[in-house]
Amino acid sequence: MNYISTRGEAAGLGFEDVLLNGLARDGGLYVPQDWPVFSAAQIAGFSGLSYTEVACRVIAPFVSGALEPAELKSMVKTAYAAFDHKAVTPLTQLDSGLWLLELFHGPTLAFKDVAMQLLGPLFDHALKRRKMRVTIVGATSGDTGSAAIEAMRGRDAVDIFILHPHGRTSEVQRRQMTTVLDANVHNLAIEGTFDDCQALVKAMFADSDFRDSVHMAGVNSINWARVMAQVVYYFYAGVALGAPHRPVSFSVPTGNFGDVLAGYVAQRMGLPMGRLVIATNVNDILVRALKTGRYETGAVTPTASPSMDIQVSSNFERLLFDATGRDAAAVRALMAGLDQSGGFSIPEAALGRIRARFDAVRVNEVETSKTIASLYAQTGLKIDPHTAVGVTAAVEARRAHPEIPMVCLATAHPAKFEKVMAEATGERAPLPAHLADLMEREERYDVLPNDRMKVQATIQERSRAVV
Ligand SMILES: *Cc1c(COP(=O)(O)O)cnc(C)c1O
Repeated sequence: MNYISTRGEAAGLGFEDVLLNGLARDGGLYVPQDWPVFSAAQIAGFSGLSYTEVACRVIAPFVSGALEPAELKSMVKTAYAAFDHKAVTPLTQLDSGLWLLELFHGPTLAFKDVAMQLLGPLFDHALKRRKMRVTIVGATSGDTGSAAIEAMRGRDAVDIFILHPHGRTSEVQRRQMTTVLDANVHNLAIEGTFDDCQALVKAMFADSDFRDSVHMAGVNSINWARVMAQVVYYFYAGVALGAPHRPVSFSVPTGNFGDVLAGYVAQRMGLPMGRLVIATNVNDILVRALKTGRYETGAVTPTASPSMDIQVSSNFERLLFDATGRDAAAVRALMAGLDQSGGFSIPEAALGRIRARFDAVRVNEVETSKTIASLYAQTGLKIDPHTAVGVTAAVEARRAHPEIPMVCLATAHPAKFEKVMAEATGERAPLPAHLADLMEREERYDVLPNDRMKVQATIQERSRAVV
């Protein structure tokens, strides 16, 4: 499979280079040159298969030329053996025609494990073959950092440095990162905010001398391999509920647009879908964009669903590329507008194509809390605040299409958000057994000032990728 950049000015690459490079040299994002398509008979053939078997079939076309089927199979098996449910991503029925797809059974209790756990073996394989080491550098406000650390811990060819804002993450979130004591894991607590951490990482990527000196790599949500791994559960859930013989809709709690983009990819690959619902909290840039055609950044408002508190949804660029008929010049112009004036207008034809597939629903904090409380009162089931945004949006979006089953993606375990859960349900959500002693475990991290030179010096001193 060959990959091309959404901005049309970087060289086409194979899967392995896309995996290791992340962003394209022209600032664009890599997408497959063509969408692989399954026939209805092939999709019907997924019925009754295990999660790992579905994963092998869905991922195979994206890694062709880079991985043998047996190599892929062994990586997929390793990745999902770390999940604490046999179905990996089980479905739970909430109501007539309404289902929850539980994506939080991985080691760090958020859906990001589904992709990150596969990224670990994929990186290992590529780096061994190339006889090289990389330094992964990332910033986190919570979920991404712990999922990346858990996926990369103990790997010989990788050193991972995760910057988090000192004293500004929840204790559970911090401990999920800082209690991982493997020698290749480096937690850097920065005296600043999450935005400071992100700005540091961005500046380090832009400093090509530094970047090359440590063989810097990224695993943030614009990495194509993460989107690819997430396509699998749409097929898995869709087929379980009757696809390809009937369509299924999905509601997706959305921040950076990675997860819901994977749903779009599944649709392009032949999975019959009703609506794809973009569910946002009050940080609603995507809802406004679909309604008015104007994609316009604003200030971020902190909410109970912090992983969706974003200004810009980076992966939206991949959808724009398709919606403009894969017009890289048009994408370049729109992104230049975003850089220069903080916004752009989606061309009318592209907006029409997006509206034909997607709905977008904004859910405020009161509604989110009400959904958690009422679902708990009615069923005894606890859902986390991100999932509650998705469920609220799902109920609203279903009114127009009550005959189509709706799957809501449950993106985090409620125990990660203890305070909000206690406020909404009057009860704590306990951590699962493998994390029960998290609060007693030894922690290791360094506190560093918000100073790029000091952070870079620390990375250069410790990374084994430095030559
Ligand atoms: C990251 C995250 C999201 C948002 O996913 P995107 O792919 O960025 O849209 C939603 N919920 C949780 C719990 C997350 O960690």
